[in-house]
Amino acid sequence: MIDISNYNNENIFAKILRHEIPSKKVFENEFVYAFEDINPQAPIHILIIPKKPFCSFTDFSKKANAKFMKEFIRSINLIVEELDLKEGYRLITNIGNYGGQEVPHFHFHLLSGKKIGKMVST
Ligand code: AMP
Repeated sequence: MIDISNYNNENIFAKILRHEIPSKKVFENEFVYAFEDINPQAPIHILIIPKKPFCSFTDFSKKANAKFMKEFIRSINLIVEELDLKEGYRLITNIGNYGGQEVPHFHFHLLSGKKIGKMVST
């Protein structure tokens, strides 16, 4: 079972942030790094991660300070504007085992480029 109670510095997104493994960068600022998902589920599938060690949304919501939270959320919208997603998009964050989280570094999936379809698969 995935451990999201203690941040693991060796998780794959931590390595991407340290440039130890390659990624296709879409956007970067002081607060976030965004890159293409290696296994895209839509024509546009981007992962947006904070440049701080949060395991999950739960961890982020408890530990991030107000400025970081605000800038993180605003940065997501900067990416949306930069990509000109006028037809809309979906943001998803998976948490823990039931949520289907595979990588224990908080991230949003940004999906667009077509109608994303049902909220959940059955
Ligand atoms: P989650 O299941 O919400 O933790 O999502 C993890 C996502 O990371 C999946 O959509 C994977 O396809 C993606 N992923 C895993 N390794 C990489 C990588 N090296 N570069 C880009 N995306 C990755």
